This record gives sequence, C-alpha cells and structure tokens, in this order.
Amino acid sequence: MKKKIGILTDDDFSNQHQPPYPRPTFFAYESPLRISSIMSYLNTLDIFNNECIIKLSPKLIDESILKLAHSQYHIDLIKRLSESGHGILGEDIFITQDSYSLAKKAVGGAIEAVESVIDRKVDQSFALIRPPGHHAVKDNASGLCIFNNIANSILYLREKKKYKKKIAIIDIDDHFGDGIARYFYDDPDVLYFSIHEFDFLEGDLGYYTELGEGDGLGKNINFPIPVNTTDKDFLEFMKILKPIFTEFNPDLIICAIGFDMHFADQIGNCLLTSKSYYRFTRQILELSEEICDGKLAFILEGGYNLIALPICVNAVIRSLLNEEFSLSKFEDNKYFLKFDNKRKITKIKNDLKDLLKKYWDCLE
Ligand SMILES: [Zn+2]
Repeated sequence: MKKKIGILTDDDFSNQHQPPYPRPTFFAYESPLRISSIMSYLNTLDIFNNECIIKLSPKLIDESILKLAHSQYHIDLIKRLSESGHGILGEDIFITQDSYSLAKKAVGGAIEAVESVIDRKVDQSFALIRPPGHHAVKDNASGLCIFNNIANSILYLREKKKYKKKIAIIDIDDHFGDGIARYFYDDPDVLYFSIHEFDFLEGDLGYYTELGEGDGLGKNINFPIPVNTTDKDFLEFMKILKPIFTEFNPDLIICAIGFDMHFADQIGNCLLTSKSYYRFTRQILELSEEICDGKLAFILEGGYNLIALPICVNAVIRSLLNEEFSLSKFEDNKYFLKFDNKRKITKIKNDLKDLLKKYWDCLE
C-alpha cells in the first residue's frame, strides 16, 4: 500500500499577520513570506502531484477550543487588539487586524495534523502553519508565538476526542519550547524532549536539570547545545531519545520542528544544513514505525531564512517519502568543518543520562 503524507497549509498563512515594519527587525522575521516561500518552492518541485502527498486544511475551530489551552483574558486581549487593527505585546509580538483569526487557524492546523494521523487518514503529517506556538503560555503570548498550537492540539485530543494515550514530543526548534514544557511539566502521559541552543555563560531556561515535577518527573527532558553546533554533532541527542521514547511507549509522536538552527538563520546561532533535518526525520520516522505504528506529526515552529526554510521543509518531506536528497550548492560550505563541539555535547549527554537514570531503566 502506498504511503500517505499529509501536508497541511492554507493561503492565509502566506498572506496575513504581516509585520507592520519597513525593515527587518526581529519582529519582522515572522512574516507571511515564510509560508509563501515554502509553498512556491514545493510547487516548483511539483510535490503536490506526488501520489503519496495528501493536501490537508486546518480544522475550523471556535473560541471554545482555544479555551482548552488559554485564559479568556488572553484570548480577549488578542481579539481586541486585532479588532483595533494594531498593537504590540511585550517585546516581540506584533498584532494586526488578522492576527487573532490567523493564530486561531494555526491552532486548527495543528489539531488537524495530529488528528489526521491518529485517525489514520494519513501516515504522517506536516503542518505548515504560522504564527508559531511553542513559547506561548496559558495567559500570555511570547517569543513570536500567540497561541500554543501543539499544547492546544493535545488538550483538544484529551478533552474533545477523549484520547488518553501517551504522547511524546520532540522539539528541535533552535529555542527551548518553554510554553509546551510548562503545560505538561507534571503530566506523566506527555513526554517533552527538547534540544535547543543554550547560553552556557549567562544561563537560561531549558537547562538539563529541569526534569518535570510530581508524576511528570523525568518526563521533561532538555538537551541544551552550544552555539555553532554543526551537522556532525547535532544528532547525538538521539542516543538518549531513542531508548527513552521506546521505554515510554507513546501512541503518537509530535515533532515541534523549527529550522532556526540552520546556518543561514537570522535568529539562531547554530550551523546546521538541511542534511541534519533529512537525517533526523529518517531516524524519528523509523523510531515511530517501531514504537507507535508510524504515527508522527510535524508542526512548524520557527525558521526565518527564506532561502533555507523551503529547502529544509523539502528535506523533511523527501525523508518521509523515503526519497534521496542531496545538499544544495548554497549549503555546501566547508567553513563549518572547523567547528567541533563533540567534547561539549558528549559531556552534556553523559550528565543528562546520569540525572535521568533514576527515572528510566533503559539508561542503567
Ligand atoms: Zn526558534
């Protein structure tokens, strides 16, 4: 039987919630061009004529679904600022007249992507949505994120679908998904594993000593990595993830996929190429086939370079399709070979393993 890969998007993601700034400030990187550049590249490659690709659309949801993850205050605030046509929240969220409806649509996109995998409408899915979600918390927008797309999709499964099975999340965005971590910090049935760039000098959220609490202890796993991590060392975290996910035995794996660890990204400081995303996808796909019947949903988080982003998305899709993929000329850069973080990353892996041994038999 042919494999079915669901790719979810909507034209509005390519057109709405447009940063109201004339120059590329930090805010302005989260722009409709992110999705339009991906879609024009995928169309150039004629990907939607591939018989294994199924187009999916966001689920239509109302405010009651947002309320599963967010306070009425937060929802009203976004709605009111949108109605007024503009606004700034904190240091890094801009609001335009269509921000509320687009952020709601992004939640509907994440819901459809996970639901279509659970219902076996498709084997795997990839939601190309924005704004991203992994920093947003119950009462607040944060770090370019308005609503928490992944947390909301899990709470939807729990509350509306009465789906009580275990879910594992792997977050490979360049930044720590503090929002998702908070939602499930004490939840024994949601395992959150994040690999992210970390400031080892100043300190930051997302250190490996943050292990969860109560019944969720040992189920919040942070794998912090240094700046300038390259393709060579990136996948080292999979050596811990694989045995733990296998022991946890989830029914579904959700991947919060950001591409801001790419070397060309304006916000992240790592040095990956699309090869890492291709290899990662292959490994997590094989793992999902071993432990949860291949039920795997990718939800787009960050990734802001308009040349790298489409290439990386294509790398993930080719890997899901089990097709060959070769590095583009743009990425074939020998400069990165001089960076070697193996020693640092091996130390982090061993320290983390020591801490986690108490909670996971597979690490003994
Ligand atoms: Zn990010």
